[in-house]
Amino acid sequence: MSNKEITVLGLGSMGVTIARLYLDKGYKVWVWNRTADKAAALVSRGAVLARSAAEALRASPVALMCVYDYRAVDAILGAEGVAAAMDGRLLVQLTTGSPQDARDAEAWAHRQGATYLEGAIQAAPDQMGQPDTPILMSGAQHVFRAAEPLLGVLGGGIVYLGEKASAAAAMDLATLSTIYGTMLGFLHGARVAEHEGFDVAEYGRIVAGIMPTFAGFLQHEGSVIQSGNFAISQSPMRISVEATQRILQTAQQAGINTEFPTFAAGLFQRADAAGLGGEELAALIKLLRG
Ligand code: NAP
Repeated sequence: MSNKEITVLGLGSMGVTIARLYLDKGYKVWVWNRTADKAAALVSRGAVLARSAAEALRASPVALMCVYDYRAVDAILGAEGVAAAMDGRLLVQLTTGSPQDARDAEAWAHRQGATYLEGAIQAAPDQMGQPDTPILMSGAQHVFRAAEPLLGVLGGGIVYLGEKASAAAAMDLATLSTIYGTMLGFLHGARVAEHEGFDVAEYGRIVAGIMPTFAGFLQHEGSVIQSGNFAISQSPMRISVEATQRILQTAQQAGINTEFPTFAAGLFQRADAAGLGGEELAALIKLLRG
């Protein structure tokens, strides 16, 4: 779609990597960054440094933006000449934000006569451009399909989540929620291992060993929630009610931090009291729905 021309707005660690990937693939790359010095290495490799964000946007039909947050996005999009430079262009927003940020940015882009895609990069800069680099994308399907070859430069693991621009941000937030929830449980477990005088590295290895099974279990629970059928296929939630109580009591007896098990055991206890103990563990979502 672009005759191998692209604009990259934002040259932090991710933006620099993105610009470099396109240079490596023979693209003509225009770059802009608030702090112009950060473009020096890219310019020495053939990138063209624009004097303003508006100039960078006008230079090519597609702009990828990757800055710190949506406050930075708003500052750039609100800068002089930017709105007028958007007409007929595609803005691919790779800055991490909320679903509402994505909706607002898409509406703004459309008002300027531009098309819009939202992306959530789920990889570190040095993992970009690999055959399996995970990137979530959303926005109008025909726009995504036309941009797909160009976006493929970022990585081979692009997953298109549909027409709603907010989908990439929503799914990014949802997966982050899994990561932090798992991490909190892992750290509480590390505290248990440490307190009992066990090798915490060994604990990490044991956890890594059960992860593939756990991943399959999460996938199963997702399907259960989507189907709405919470009849038990494996083990009832009651087992988790008891397990989380045991984790809490053990922490209390050991005199170690109890915040994580208090939270987890409290939720499961309320679910049990609501009569969900005989259903799939995923039925806890009924409690979260309020
Ligand atoms: P970074 O290295 O901290 O760079 C931040 C960028 O934002 C710089 O270009 C900075 O410009 C710009 N910026 C900040 N405030 C600004 C403002 N008010 N006006 C204009 N520009 C502003 O961040 P990064 O690691 O490249 O991350 C960029 C985005 O990618 C983030 O949304 C992040 O969540 C996402 N991401 C990053 C990673 C990662 O591992 N790095 C992984 C996945 C997703 P200056 O140079 O002028 O300060």
